[in-house]
Amino acid sequence: MITIKQIEDLMKITSDTHTISSFYIGIQPQFLIQKKYKILVKDLIKQGTKDLSRYNDEQKEFIDKDIERILRFMNYEFDEKSRGLAIFASSPLNLWQVYPLPQRIKGRFVIDYDPYTRPLVRFFDENEKYFTVLVDRKKARLFSMYAGILNERKEVYDEVQGRHKKGGWSQARFQRHIKDQAAKHLQNVSGVVYDLYKKEKFDHCILGGQHVTRNNFKNILHSSIQKIIVGEIDVALDDSPLEIMDSVQHIINKFEDRQSRRYLKILRDRLGKKHLAVSGLEKTVKMLQQARVHTVIIKEDLRIQGFKCVKCETPFTKDAKKCPLCSKKIVQVPDIVDEIIEKTWELNGEVKFIKTSKELDNLGGIAALLRW
Ligand SMILES: [Zn+2]
Repeated sequence: MITIKQIEDLMKITSDTHTISSFYIGIQPQFLIQKKYKILVKDLIKQGTKDLSRYNDEQKEFIDKDIERILRFMNYEFDEKSRGLAIFASSPLNLWQVYPLPQRIKGRFVIDYDPYTRPLVRFFDENEKYFTVLVDRKKARLFSMYAGILNERKEVYDEVQGRHKKGGWSQARFQRHIKDQAAKHLQNVSGVVYDLYKKEKFDHCILGGQHVTRNNFKNILHSSIQKIIVGEIDVALDDSPLEIMDSVQHIINKFEDRQSRRYLKILRDRLGKKHLAVSGLEKTVKMLQQARVHTVIIKEDLRIQGFKCVKCETPFTKDAKKCPLCSKKIVQVPDIVDEIIEKTWELNGEVKFIKTSKELDNLGGIAALLRW
């Protein structure tokens, strides 16, 4: 599984003479039948090598070498359990990195002077870590949901007696006793959840179980967990993983929708006041050149040809003799959006992808919230 750190390291790789081949493929189960994905691989490479006129003969030879190696990998070494895959190759730079991904990713083959990392950024953006805790009076089940995969992480069971009165105990004393035990159990679970949170830094938490217990549990959770609760579900602890996953996914979809709408509302307000926001490719790029972008908001499938500086990697919408910032050469890039994302990250800004929005379409599919 690829980490944010690895993506950041990939983004640091760049060359002004050698090309880097980036290959992405998503594999649906039907492509596994008779290894049909091999055809898909060839198609993607064909599309990505349609126009190599900007490269010289030596570069083209290296590109051929990279393609050969990718084909060899897909034919003989590819683990068919992976739903997606990212490969970065450059034989002159001695670069060969393969990342299996647990989820489908849009396939493409891109040749450029740096790794094409945008799909990975999007992959991470879309796949925040969710944690689900189901509790009842005796038991708890903990799940993580990451990149569309639900994993049961832990089961906690505490001995809590039934509601029937035991001989020799007064009713009141017995009631108090089971109440104490149930409270202890919830405390115990709360501790387990907080330990996991400190270790794994999940982004969001979903609570499940019967209403009353869930509420009691919510009240004793550590405040940093309380803050990241994004929804609650009415499921029983012995429900099947499929049922649990459905309920969890429903909460996640609703939450992500809310988040997208929130970003669009901030954008709309600021654009209306002509204050701290711009829209459209031209203006977004200009603000990025001035390092003023705080959050760039992008329509998920936007892809536009553009230019960038080979040295400082600043994106440009138009070709120019040299970079106004560092005087180095400017080259054409297959996707300026990719360069925008990388620059935004470099400047510690945020990237927010929006799945569908007419409003954003009308603004050119891209906009930015500004720092100043
Ligand atoms: Zn420059």
